[in-house]
Amino acid sequence: MKSYTEWQALSKSQTFHGQAYINGEFQAAQNGETFACINPATEQLLTNVASCDQADVDIAVANAKTVFKSGVWSQMHPKKRKNILLKLASLIDQHKDELALLDTLDMGKSISEMVNIDMPDVIDCFQWTAESIDKVYGEIAPTGTDTLALISHEPVGVVACITPWNYPMLMASWKLAPALAAGNSVILKPSEKSPLSVLRLAELTKEAGIPDGVFNVLPGFGHTAGKALAMHNDVNVLAFTGSTRVAALLMEYAGKSNMKRVWLEAGGKSPMLIFDDCDVKKAAASAAASIFSNQGEVCIACSRLYVQDTIKAEFMTALVEAAGKYQAGDPLDPNTKMGPMVDAVQMNTVKRFIESAQAEGGELVFGGVKDYQEGQGYFSQATIIDKANNEMEFVREEIFGPVLAVSEFTTEEEALALANDSKYGLGAALWTDNLSRAHRVSRQLESGMVWVNTWGEGDTTVPFGGVKASGNGRDKSLHALEKYTELKNVMIRIG
Ligand code: NAD
Repeated sequence: MKSYTEWQALSKSQTFHGQAYINGEFQAAQNGETFACINPATEQLLTNVASCDQADVDIAVANAKTVFKSGVWSQMHPKKRKNILLKLASLIDQHKDELALLDTLDMGKSISEMVNIDMPDVIDCFQWTAESIDKVYGEIAPTGTDTLALISHEPVGVVACITPWNYPMLMASWKLAPALAAGNSVILKPSEKSPLSVLRLAELTKEAGIPDGVFNVLPGFGHTAGKALAMHNDVNVLAFTGSTRVAALLMEYAGKSNMKRVWLEAGGKSPMLIFDDCDVKKAAASAAASIFSNQGEVCIACSRLYVQDTIKAEFMTALVEAAGKYQAGDPLDPNTKMGPMVDAVQMNTVKRFIESAQAEGGELVFGGVKDYQEGQGYFSQATIIDKANNEMEFVREEIFGPVLAVSEFTTEEEALALANDSKYGLGAALWTDNLSRAHRVSRQLESGMVWVNTWGEGDTTVPFGGVKASGNGRDKSLHALEKYTELKNVMIRIG
């Protein structure tokens, strides 16, 4: 790991790509417009980026469709496609520090998280998915002896991926790797708040040998480039990660256009249950990491914490001690655990929710609203609010910031009822040393992922995604490939 001084020096010499990447070329938006990319830790301009809209989308989709039909990628021998994606993984590995730095500068995530978590996951995602290309087989259905029914997975065509800003490279990779592995042409619209790393990735895809037009990046706003992609009749699949509000809009757009398949990884308000038979210190450290790492800008953050009343006092002491380790600071310092919020809007959202929580009767036990100094970055601080209940707005709504709501429970049934009392269902964590309880509660939690005596752990081999208003699809694992392939049945009469 490089030192603080080294990261600072690198950040000064870092150059940025600000143009759209269409059909293998970097180019300005057709309308000539740009938007500003600001470093949230300093409020300084990093660069201006092409602001794509309908005209760029039309060009990119038409190219992507033509390239798909040409078969240059979609019908390439699987082994060759695998080797190109493996080369891409290796190029990402070679440039991992630069890519890590781009995300840190662009959206404020701590450089140590980028280097230790995001980048290894990105590389693993491309490697693992590439390896799957020539290992996934089709099926022969058990029909009668006079017919042969072949079931195969076919690429779908043009895939549009719309991604958020909180894990810019990682969220994009979870979609790009399987969409490309399956043989599709892909158009990525990154968040307007963090487009820089994937524009650099575009260069690496060319170097790896991905044919022109197969991978495209269209930076731009949601209501322009994003909506144009979602409404396009030649986009066959839309893969989205972002808020529940926009996820709902995308379903509407799909219905109003060509009924494209829409895969949604949306928001969350995940619960963590602390039972009195757990390791209190470990649980408290995990609870703090869950809500304060990445400044709380984490979809699976356990922002609702329910602790059994018998250990509440002991747990709160351990929790406050653990929270003390999360001081907001310069994300380029490898010792920093919490960087700035992505922008002033997000910082003010956090402020508003802390104020509303207190107005509704919540008791501030750690942190609170942080003073803002113009030009010094959009920082919030780790905040814990006790005496919360499920009726309060800050407990029901996703804040997407470092604000933890704490309530207590007496029985297991009560804990489950409180945990499931949410429109979201992304993740859930529970801490207990009772194996039967761990299984019993996990089964009944309404969420796509459950962590027992841990939080946030994953692996490329396991699916990631939620239920209820948290979405429908799954990223990662072989299940992710299902999003980007059609099942085709060919029935042959041989009798
Ligand atoms: P967002 O919904 O505001 O934006 C996500 C993307 O959608 C951006 O690229 C944006 O430009 C685009 N967009 C916005 N309006 C659009 C429109 N009308 N049509 C088409 N595209 C549009 O979300 P965000 O603020 O970037 O990200 C934070 C959200 O993402 C949180 O809710 C978080 O929980 C969620 N998230 C979910 C997961 C998951 O795996 N479930 C992972 C990370 C983040």
